[in-house]
Amino acid sequence: MNRPRPRVAAAAAVVAVACAWAAPAAAGPRPTIDDLVIEAQIELDSEILALVELDAFGPEVPDVLLDVHAEWAEFVTGLDRDGLLEWVVDADASGAEALRQLDLADVPVTPEIQRTVGPLGQADLDAIADDRPITIDPGIYVRARGQLTLGMPTPATPISAPAVTAPGITAPPAEASNETGPIIAIALSLGVLAAGAWALVRRRPLPNPGGRSAMQEQLFDQLSDAARRMAGALDEEEIARIAIAEAMQMVHARHGAFIDVSEFGLTAMATSGDVLAVQTLTGGLLSRVADTGQSVRRIAHDEPAVTSLPASLLAVPVIGSGRVTAILFLVRPDSAPFTDADEAAINRLAPIVASARGAASRHGDATALSRIDALTGLANRRRLDEDLAALAAAATGRTTALAMIDVDHFKHFNDRNGHTAGDDALRAVAAAILRAVRPRDRVYRYGGEEFTLVLSDIDRREAEHVAERVRAEVERIDLPGSAEQPSGTLTVSLGVALVEHGAPEAALQLADSALYEAKSAGRNRVVITESVA
Ligand code: GH3
Ligand code: MG
Ligand code: MG
Repeated sequence: MNRPRPRVAAAAAVVAVACAWAAPAAAGPRPTIDDLVIEAQIELDSEILALVELDAFGPEVPDVLLDVHAEWAEFVTGLDRDGLLEWVVDADASGAEALRQLDLADVPVTPEIQRTVGPLGQADLDAIADDRPITIDPGIYVRARGQLTLGMPTPATPISAPAVTAPGITAPPAEASNETGPIIAIALSLGVLAAGAWALVRRRPLPNPGGRSAMQEQLFDQLSDAARRMAGALDEEEIARIAIAEAMQMVHARHGAFIDVSEFGLTAMATSGDVLAVQTLTGGLLSRVADTGQSVRRIAHDEPAVTSLPASLLAVPVIGSGRVTAILFLVRPDSAPFTDADEAAINRLAPIVASARGAASRHGDATALSRIDALTGLANRRRLDEDLAALAAAATGRTTALAMIDVDHFKHFNDRNGHTAGDDALRAVAAAILRAVRPRDRVYRYGGEEFTLVLSDIDRREAEHVAERVRAEVERIDLPGSAEQPSGTLTVSLGVALVEHGAPEAALQLADSALYEAKSAGRNRVVITESVA
């Protein structure tokens, strides 16, 4: 049910616990039949959740579907119809993949499972997209869900201990059942595997501590905790620190490192302990994990990334968007080798880390975008406010100049040439300003046809120089229609104020007053004020 999207970023990491619990990391051991069945269950529940939210099941929604919705409703709260449609399309794609995996494993499935876990019909998707009412037969979803979670017939002979389990997890004991519902085709043809699969298909796909051993519960709690902490972190460095601290705690490692993997190579983003040789991360086991996507566990006598040898090492890849994006690297004394269970635990943590990193990076992208003006590509007013606040806090003791720039007679330009030409003119003015300022100066679109400059570490004479260069550079713009401006060309007026010790916000007001003076004095000129004391 991991539909990563910014709005459910925090939830995504928590939900990833369920997925990590239900299925091993992509690079981990091959999935077992139960993993594949659980994957299908998750995708089915995910789709039910969205379809109930979309009122797609008509007026009489069966309780079992309402229950699925009630349990996970918070993950779709706030999504509009488009968001829900995207959710369904995602669930369909993952569901199709889940079915394909079952098929590859030669597990036959019932037509109900095929239809509900597989993609929704195009007519229904179109109806959702067009905001038309849709009615999907809830019965088939109820039956499919029953088949995936409840519907095995009571076997004639008692079921023995589960034969198939996910690595590191013991399936709960099979319960006797009076169900004589539709026969699930899954596992029926698999002879002895059927008993284990039966136990496992009865297991709920999402967190449910019931029936787990104390160790499993502890692991589940640790994963949930890690997910919660990482969901609260919004930058990748904090996630790296949390991830490695959690990983070390989970397997009682003495040293640990979070290694970022990118096209530039391997970088230690967070380390604990002092045995990592950060200069020589490549060439050994970390490169191998990055290249193969497979975790490595061994006692090493010769490993370039570690200074104190021999040592027990465990390196587990974090896989996001189909590639290794990081490695969780853990070190213990050679007298305490890492176990199967340790490796399995970190393999379950890895997808949670991947999910949190994905959410943080999407959040970072969205945050960066929200500070950029779409028309000109310059920083926007929001970014200016933040930068001025930072400037006020920094109190560098150096002089900064702020300039307010306003295009002259721009309404005239718009009226004559149309709004689209007006937009082109604003882009041309932005480009002219950028050409005229020094590399360290910052240019913002304040709003409308107004721009702001922050000229740091500058004196009055140089500030006047830069402002004059801006004025002259705009005057040179040659655009269709600019010759029809009142002054024969496109021009700007500038008001400049210097900030020495005063608050930048106050200086901005002074710059605005200076701009007003420049307008009154005839436009296409620079007025510079006294500095703010
Ligand atoms: P002044 O010299 O006194 O500054 O006169 P002006 O005409 O530039 O000032 P006024 O405030 O009357 O008009 C500003 C115009 O800028 C009006 C508005 O339609 C236009 N404008 C603001 N933002 C945009 C934009 O994003 N695109 C376009 N094309 N025009 C814009
Ligand atoms: Mg204006
Ligand atoms: Mg103007």
